[in-house]
Amino acid sequence: MTAPDVAIIGSGASAVAAAWALASAGRSVRILDVGVDAPHDGPLVPMTDWARIRRTDPHQHRYFLGDSYEGIPLGSARVGSQVTPPRRFVTRDAATLLPRTDDGFVGLESVALGGLAAAWGAAISPWSEQDFRGLPISLSDLLPHYDAIAELIGVCGEPGDDLSAIMHDPPGMMPPLDTDPASTALLARYHAHRTDLHRRGLRLGRARLAVCSRVHRGRGPHPHLDLDFWCDHGDAVYRPRFTLRELLALPNFEYVPGVLVRALHPDASGVRISLRRLSDNTSEDTRARRVVLAAGALGSARIALRSLGAFATPVPLVSNTSTYHALLNFPALGAPQHEHRHSLTQLTGFFTPPEGGPEMQLQVYSYRSLLTFKLLREQPLAFPEGKSVLRSLLPFLSLVGMHHEDHPSPDKLCELREQAGSDLLHVRYRTSPREDADQLAAERRARALFRSLSCLPLRRVHLGHGASIHYAATLSMSARPGSLNTSPDGSLAALPGVFAADSSVFPRLPARGVTFTMMANAHRIGALLASSLA
Ligand SMILES: Cc1cc2nc3c(=O)[nH]c(=O)nc-3n(C[C@H](O)[C@H](O)[C@H](O)COP(=O)(O)OP(=O)(O)OC[C@H]3O[C@@H](n4cnc5c(N)ncnc54)[C@H](O)[C@@H]3O)c2cc1C
Repeated sequence: MTAPDVAIIGSGASAVAAAWALASAGRSVRILDVGVDAPHDGPLVPMTDWARIRRTDPHQHRYFLGDSYEGIPLGSARVGSQVTPPRRFVTRDAATLLPRTDDGFVGLESVALGGLAAAWGAAISPWSEQDFRGLPISLSDLLPHYDAIAELIGVCGEPGDDLSAIMHDPPGMMPPLDTDPASTALLARYHAHRTDLHRRGLRLGRARLAVCSRVHRGRGPHPHLDLDFWCDHGDAVYRPRFTLRELLALPNFEYVPGVLVRALHPDASGVRISLRRLSDNTSEDTRARRVVLAAGALGSARIALRSLGAFATPVPLVSNTSTYHALLNFPALGAPQHEHRHSLTQLTGFFTPPEGGPEMQLQVYSYRSLLTFKLLREQPLAFPEGKSVLRSLLPFLSLVGMHHEDHPSPDKLCELREQAGSDLLHVRYRTSPREDADQLAAERRARALFRSLSCLPLRRVHLGHGASIHYAATLSMSARPGSLNTSPDGSLAALPGVFAADSSVFPRLPARGVTFTMMANAHRIGALLASSLA
């Protein structure tokens, strides 16, 4: 294989965004990826709505429960429970190939084609000017790249609503998806009390989603079949494999799955890449002029630390704390039910305490297509009673995810440890009592706002730190980079010719989700690298 201009490690959301910028600018690009994929035995889930499937498909157990009943969770709710049997490939082999021990952390990693975004919920919230505070880049550096990524992945939302006022809507934004009856009723209630709620710090609107609500780049429109946790009908919800498909049509792009990159060795003519071929477990070296790390914030840290022999050298790790709140949504009582709906985030809200304090992101969902039996263990009644009560309540139940910002601290670290001729990543993550108290207080205020919207909070669930599946800060960008920092152009000070393009570069995480901003930044880094190689 001849050495490409750039080798990119990973095929997740950040990898394909960087690859798109580089390959579109004419650079030769090779993605090196483990790339575990779904079995190619044709679509399992029929192209009809969820309720009809439940009534009529004799094979529904195959995807709802899985051929080995792997869709029936044992124990209480845990991280990644939205990763359903048809999407189990997303986490397959990750624990073996990316060994990790955790102390106070419940993270999820992927070695799949498309990475974690092969199962993501596609909710996007561009960061505000404020969110870039302390970073060596600003919102204006990212704006053109937000727009380029929005065009690539397809974004929908409601222009001119209360969210537009506080976040950047890309020019080509498609119309929003239709909200389900419970969220439609909640939004109507919000509009009736809008002035008072603004005064109390709440803004609510239809979620911005990386979803094609009409035909865009050969994808969509979204069919509103409430099957988003189970399949990708119409290719409407963005997955990195769609960009990979577009990249594969370019003559200067190559995808190499089945390899685990171990270490990078910069030299005078570029970078030597040591990898393991997974088909026969052999080791080999390959080369590229430059390398872009896009193996996930934890995965990229592993490769960088191993390359530098930096064992037992802690680097920061941040992860948004997310909690879930079940609400009885009284405005939805009596609302006519229908099957035309989607399963993703229905409404997005931002709560900024008027007396000061960090912004919190709120994401409103309904619970239906993930199957009622998973909720049964979370409620206090005996099984038969619980089942009938839940069935009657579900149309009026809203779930609100409350997401907090996160900052580095001496108690949020990860390090590579040598172990029996190999190595593993160890994560230690603890929040301070002050952080916990502040977050609980902010959640209490947000719950009070929902009470004013006639929603009765029932239960709070915290799956543990790391369960947000948003990770960052392992190779933080800095205007004055140390050896394990990246510069604003993504380059790693200690590894010449190596760049990081995933969320490892963000020194902290605002409450708004990370993936859209990470893709915009990966596109920015790819574009800068492309021009430096011209
Ligand atoms: C159920 C779920 C819902 C989510 N919902 C949202 C949401 O609504 N909004 C949001 O913003 N985010 C969401 N996320 C988070 C989002 O999916 C991640 O932030 C994003 O996918 C991370 O992308 P990444 O490019 O960092 O790489 P990852 O997704 O971590 O992928 C890593 C890639 O690198 C490859 N790789 C790793 N190590 C190696 C190696 N050593 N050699 C070769 N290849 C390697 C893997 O094969 C993989 O392709 C969700 C995640 C999940 C699981």
